[in-house]
Parts: sequence; structure tokens; C-alpha cells
Amino acid sequence: MDFEFTRDQLMFKKEIIRFAKKEIVPRIQAFELKKQFDFESFRKLGEFGILGLHFPEAYGGGGADVITTVLAGEALGEAGVDGGLTLAYGAHTFLCADTIFRHGTEAQRRKYIPKLASGEWIGCMGLTEPNAGSDVASMRTTAEKRGDTYVLNGGKIFITNGPIADVAVVYAKTDPEKKHAGISAFIVEKGTKGFSSGPNILKMGVCTSQTSELFFSDCVIPAQNLLGTENEGFNMSLQTVEWDRSALLAPFIGASTYMLNRCVEYAKKREQFGRAIAQFQSIKHKIANIRIFGEAARGLVYRIAWCKDQGRPLNHLEAAVAKLFVGDWSMAPSNDAVVLFGGYGYCHEYDMERIFRDSRLAPIGGGTSDIQKMIISKLI
Ligand SMILES: Cc1cc2nc3c(=O)[nH]c(=O)nc-3n(C[C@H](O)[C@H](O)[C@H](O)COP(=O)(O)OP(=O)(O)OC[C@H]3O[C@@H](n4cnc5c(N)ncnc54)[C@H](O)[C@@H]3O)c2cc1C
Repeated sequence: MDFEFTRDQLMFKKEIIRFAKKEIVPRIQAFELKKQFDFESFRKLGEFGILGLHFPEAYGGGGADVITTVLAGEALGEAGVDGGLTLAYGAHTFLCADTIFRHGTEAQRRKYIPKLASGEWIGCMGLTEPNAGSDVASMRTTAEKRGDTYVLNGGKIFITNGPIADVAVVYAKTDPEKKHAGISAFIVEKGTKGFSSGPNILKMGVCTSQTSELFFSDCVIPAQNLLGTENEGFNMSLQTVEWDRSALLAPFIGASTYMLNRCVEYAKKREQFGRAIAQFQSIKHKIANIRIFGEAARGLVYRIAWCKDQGRPLNHLEAAVAKLFVGDWSMAPSNDAVVLFGGYGYCHEYDMERIFRDSRLAPIGGGTSDIQKMIISKLI
């Protein structure tokens, strides 16, 4: 077994941290307070090559392997980039663009991937519906084939980048009588008649990401906007799970390193009862706990990335364990960090409260912890 990153990977990680600290982090507080999306930072991620890192160069990507791609997400978190921007990047690159790349025709790839990899266009993915969350197969949005078109009717909810996306990958029933086996995936562009999005849904955390409903009312799209094969949509959505359990989790791991560094720095400086709080055992334990989370989470997540690089089929049990662990446990280090900072930890200026709020999404989005436990126990 080889647990080493290559020299190039480590240098690249350092470069991303340097870039993000200089170009993105100073802008976060203002956008976080306004709960607005930072388009400029998103475009900068594109210019730096992060949005399309794993796509082949021929499509405007960076040709990177999976480990390097996951490392990039970790680097953003470690630099202190907020969960809203990293979520927007994750939904854009892995849930939208990667699905088009993986299942699209050559014409679809050529049309969308360069625009998405550069950040010229923003992508989103619509799977969840008001009545179909964990049980996605009960979705009600339909896509009826009429001649050389499909007509979409229905709606989606909680869609990251929904209000700002130029293109959406949308899952809909092409055979409403069936559950999983009746779902297909489509590309729907902004401006298509009958397609609209709702306003940003205000959230507890990841506040700079924009989340909304998507509405389809007799929305006619060309039949060539079907992605892959009809009725294969559910299996296609499952394939994003590998990214969901690696690249989308990586920023939470990076955030734990960011908190660790900030906590150590603060604990050495802050004095109470005549000495640095770093000398108190309860503070030392909090610092140890944050490190323990990072070490364990890193092992689980990079194993999934490594298997994907090796071309091995996803081990669904390992993927569910990784999601559950990072999801449930990422709240613990951020809680420790808030407590360690005392009253300052509760204040906006010191970041810890934002990371605490952002981390609360980890056990919900992309499949709740209850669902991961269900998968784990079923596979056992
Ligand atoms: C900020 C944010 C961004 C999101 N981004 C996207 C996106 O870009 N695209 C997208 O398609 N979706 C997105 N989602 C949706 C997300 O994936 C769903 O919220 C999540 O899968 C849970 O679905 P639900 O909210 O309908 O909860 P429900 O499925 O209604 O679950 C409610 C509760 O019941 C529990 N539960 C449900 N079924 C079971 C069961 N069988 N056994 C035990 N417990 C169960 C759940 O664990 C949960 O505690 C996003 C959500 C959020 C909050």
C-alpha cells in the first residue's frame, strides 16, 4: 500500500492554498453577510483550472487524476474557502458537468464541457423533489416523448446553483409507471420556454451558494438533449456517488485542517488565569479531536479516490461509511472550534461559527446519514 502523495500533487495543493488565500478568502465575509454568490471567485476557480481539473485537456480540462482532484477540494477548505463556494463548485463540476461528460454524446461534450470547465457557464443538477428526497425513485417530474422532442412537467427543490445556472442536468420519469427503471436524464438550458427557477432559499449554512426550486411547465426540449439511454437515469445518478463521497467531502476535511491551524494559533495566544489556554487539558483535547477527525476522514475519502483512479468498481459499503463518517463527524471539530474560541467563536468575524453552520449540511446533502446507515446495514 502506498499512502504517499506525489511531489507534484503536494506542490499543486500548496499552489491552490496560496491562490485561494490571496484571491478568494478576503472576499468571503462580505458575500457571506449578504448571502450572495461570488461570481468573481467562481470564475477565478475556472481560470485557475479547478472547475475542470479532471476533464481531458481536449475539452478544456486539466487532465488530472482523481486523487489530485480530491486534493484540490481539500486545499480549498484548508485555505479557508467557505462551504457555499465549494458546494457550488461541487454541484457544478461533479453533479452537472461530469454527468454530461460521462454520458453525453461527443456533440454534447463539445458543446458544454469547455464552457463549464472554464466557468463561463454555471451548471446545476436537479434530482430532489418536494415529495421525493431520500426516496428519489418516487419523483413525479415527467418527460414525455413527442416526436423529436421531450416535454417536461414537474419541479425540483433544493437545487444548488438553481437560480444562477446556465444549464441543468434534470432527472425525470420517462416511464412513470416504473420507479427506478423509469427515470431518464436530460440537459435543459436556461431560457428554454417553460423552464424557470425560484428565488434563493435562505439557509442555515453554505450561505453564499444559491439554492432554489426548478419548475417545468410544458417545457419542450429537443430529443437530442437526452443524456445516455432512456430509463437509465437512476443508474447514471448513482455514478455521481463516487464524486459525492470523495471530491464533495474533501472541502470538509480541508476545513478541519483550517480550524486546527486557527485553534492552535488562538490557544497559544489567548491567556486566561495567567497562562495560555493551550495549557488547559480540555483545550488540548479539542485540538486532538479535530486532528483525529481529519486523519480518519482523509483515509476513508482518499481510499475511494484511489479506487476510482485504479478503475475499480465503487464499493458501496465503503462509500456509505465515508459519507456517514465525514457527514456526522465533521460537525464535532467545528463545534470544538467554536467552543475553543469562547465568545469569539460565536461571532462572525472569527469564521468558526460559519464553518460550524456549513458543516451541518454534510449529514444531509447527497443522502442523509440515516440512509447511509440503511445502506451499510443492508450490505452487511
Ligand atoms: C443546501 C442543500 C443543497 C442541496 N443540493 C442539491 C442539489 O444540487 N441537487 C439535488 O438534487 N438535491 C440537492 N439537495 C437535496 C438533498 O440531497 C436532500 O435534502 C436529501 O437527500 C434529503 O432529502 P429530503 O430533504 O427530502 O429529506 P427526507 O428524505 O424527507 O428525509 C427526512 C428525514 O427522514 C429520514 N429518512 C428518510 N428516509 C428514511 C429511511 N428509509 N430510513 C430512515 N430514515 C429515513 C432522513 O434521514 C431525514 O432525517 C440539497 C439539499 C440541501 C439542504
